Amino acid sequence: MNYDEVRAVDPDVADALEGEVERQQDTLAMIASENHVSEAVLEAQGSHLTNKYAEGYPGKRYYAGCEYADEVEELAIERAKELWGAEHVNVQPHSGTQANMGVYLAMLDAGDKILSLDLTHGGHLSHGHPANFTGQLYEVEQYHVDPETGYIDYEELDELAKEFDPDIIVSGFSAYPRAVEFETIQETAESVDALHLADIAHITGLVAAGEHPSPVGIADFVTGSTHKTIRAGRGGIIMTSKEYASDIDKAVFPGGQGGPLMHNVAGKAVGFKEALQPAFTEYAAQVVENAKTLAATLEDRGMEIVSGGTDTHLVLVDLRPSHPDLTGGEAEEALESVGLVLNANTVPGETRSAFNPSGIRAGTPALTTRGFGTEEMETVGNLIADVVDAPEDEDVLAEAAQTIDELTAAHPLYE
Ligand SMILES: *Cc1c(COP(=O)(O)O)cnc(C)c1O
Repeated sequence: MNYDEVRAVDPDVADALEGEVERQQDTLAMIASENHVSEAVLEAQGSHLTNKYAEGYPGKRYYAGCEYADEVEELAIERAKELWGAEHVNVQPHSGTQANMGVYLAMLDAGDKILSLDLTHGGHLSHGHPANFTGQLYEVEQYHVDPETGYIDYEELDELAKEFDPDIIVSGFSAYPRAVEFETIQETAESVDALHLADIAHITGLVAAGEHPSPVGIADFVTGSTHKTIRAGRGGIIMTSKEYASDIDKAVFPGGQGGPLMHNVAGKAVGFKEALQPAFTEYAAQVVENAKTLAATLEDRGMEIVSGGTDTHLVLVDLRPSHPDLTGGEAEEALESVGLVLNANTVPGETRSAFNPSGIRAGTPALTTRGFGTEEMETVGNLIADVVDAPEDEDVLAEAAQTIDELTAAHPLYE
């Protein structure tokens, strides 16, 4: 892919775009929420549908000229239904946060109550954080992971539900390495007459491939992003039963959004088609196997893995026991300097702060897309340990950077 047309108009932006392609090619993307889409998805997202207003839904648009927009949206919906087995799907949310907003707007009034996981324990801003509209519009109570085990404390969740009497319970997380027990949470929700929103933003691809239990058919609403473990380009999605279909559609448009980003919907359709191929099932299985290998390698090197391992695509490391004087931020910076990009993250029982946390989070979706298998993940795990053990040792850093150059050169991203 080149940016010749952009360059002719705007060399500054072309430089930045080309710089970004090179950055992605030359570094290891281990931010757990990131992935690399195919050239087909890129092309669809860059398509002429960006010009088209298609407010409304297929067959019921506000403007003329929507026959191709309808076709694309219907294909995205059909494929999503096949991937996740949902009765009703809305593919218009601009992002995962917008998908959650669609559910809240459809089902809650201002002042209603949300019970969700604490952000520092792996939750998400859109689950009721004070800096997000959810924390400002709704009353929020939070459950936690057990700091000893790193697993969701389902008993505490159940007790809090009984005390707090929420209108909706949110499950699904941003930094939780273990399989979520959606049925257990659903039982609690039913026992207090609350709705259940399962936000599978991080694990949409794993759920589609059967690598993680599905909340579809269990929770009342399932929201997801389309750019994390599923490689369908940036966006969001809502799945629900026929019962709530019309409420959800109205809450997305006109409730919370204007015209859909039809070029993104086209990216979703193409990415979903790719995910329906057998190769995607293999990919998702490899993502999990790679994460397990990464966790085991880091543990062998003396690091504390939150919950002792992973069932998913991500590994959360608590640096405090092995590296009490190194913050997550310092580790992130040293790793970025050698070309390994991941993020500092809070850990259960955090003793520092959200801005200066004690852990790092690493994910395998993007590297697996590049063709990394367990052998390469062992190399990567050892590189992380080398750098974290000696973040200021120039020789160690130079050697790690050299190995990363070799790995990225051996696994080209875009031809
Ligand atoms: C990533 C994520 C989202 C969506 O985020 P956007 O950036 O708005 O697409 C929502 N919920 C969870 C749990 C997430 O991890």
